[in-house]
Amino acid sequence: MKNLFGLTLAQLQDELVSIGQKKFRAAQMAAWIYQRGARSFDAMTDLSKELRRQLSERYEIRAAQLITRLDSPSTAKFLLDLNGSTVECVLMRHDYGNSICISSQAGCAMGCAFCASTLNGLERNLTAAEMIAQVIFINDELRAESAKVDSIVVMGMGEPLMNFDNLIAFLRLIHEPYTLGMSYRRLTVSTCGIVPKIYELAQLKLPITLSISLHAPTDELRSTLMPINRTFGLDALIKAGRDYGERTGRRVTYEYILIDGVNDSTEHARQLATLLKDQLANVNVIPINPVVERDFKRPPSRTINAFMEVLEARGIGATLRKEFGAEINAACGQLRRSFV
Ligand code: SF4
Repeated sequence: MKNLFGLTLAQLQDELVSIGQKKFRAAQMAAWIYQRGARSFDAMTDLSKELRRQLSERYEIRAAQLITRLDSPSTAKFLLDLNGSTVECVLMRHDYGNSICISSQAGCAMGCAFCASTLNGLERNLTAAEMIAQVIFINDELRAESAKVDSIVVMGMGEPLMNFDNLIAFLRLIHEPYTLGMSYRRLTVSTCGIVPKIYELAQLKLPITLSISLHAPTDELRSTLMPINRTFGLDALIKAGRDYGERTGRRVTYEYILIDGVNDSTEHARQLATLLKDQLANVNVIPINPVVERDFKRPPSRTINAFMEVLEARGIGATLRKEFGAEINAACGQLRRSFV
């Protein structure tokens, strides 16, 4: 049976017309699917019984299925089944709203040394429907608490820019008023540095935030942590980030995971400040969540503080990110690895 979950309003209208029905019913169906949690046509009580019967014979509404969840006071991590692939997404409850982190691929081919998601390689790209399924799943959970998803980062498993067309389709779909009507300014896309795709994204002029995973201030070190750096080096990456900021007017965020004894010295901080000088940018400094499979540790507090002080003294906007989820294996890919 054809799955209606993940279709646009225009596609739902086409389906209705193809079975001889009026296309204006599509708006009601979209509201049921994306805003009211309906997973069967029987639940769509403002559609006639005959239409519901007709729909049930031809279509299904196949959303995400929960495999397991882990909860802590500020974080909930969900392991979901999406058409046979196992995918992680995370809800982070902040004072200022509910932020979620979703995956763009099942597994990842990028091979970053600090990341559990890549240990089994790439399984496949997720479709736009499978990306929005993660968002709607968490939004349905939050609705029970009279809350909602307030912002989305595509920073879970996978490299979003290696799944470009599906990513863009997802961003446009979640922005539509008949889904969650999410402002583009509340959407963030993270990349490990696929330079040509950063330029392509900038050309679309969607006012989303671009987040670049930097993690090292020299090519030599970055290439040992992130193999993508051997293809697109730091000069090219920083130039692409600058172009993105200039074209979209959006401040680029650079993510910098601090790893004990690897990239956390004050000299590294000075090199980082030089790299980002004069750029509309902010650095998120994130002490690493230990990855069981990798021998990386969180630096001591005095090292973290010294690193932040150098950035501040050099006029680089930097935020020490609150760690979410270390207590529930919320680091990228860790929950999934315990299941697949
Ligand atoms: S950090 Fe992101 S891009 Fe790198 S391996 Fe993990 S999921 Fe892939």
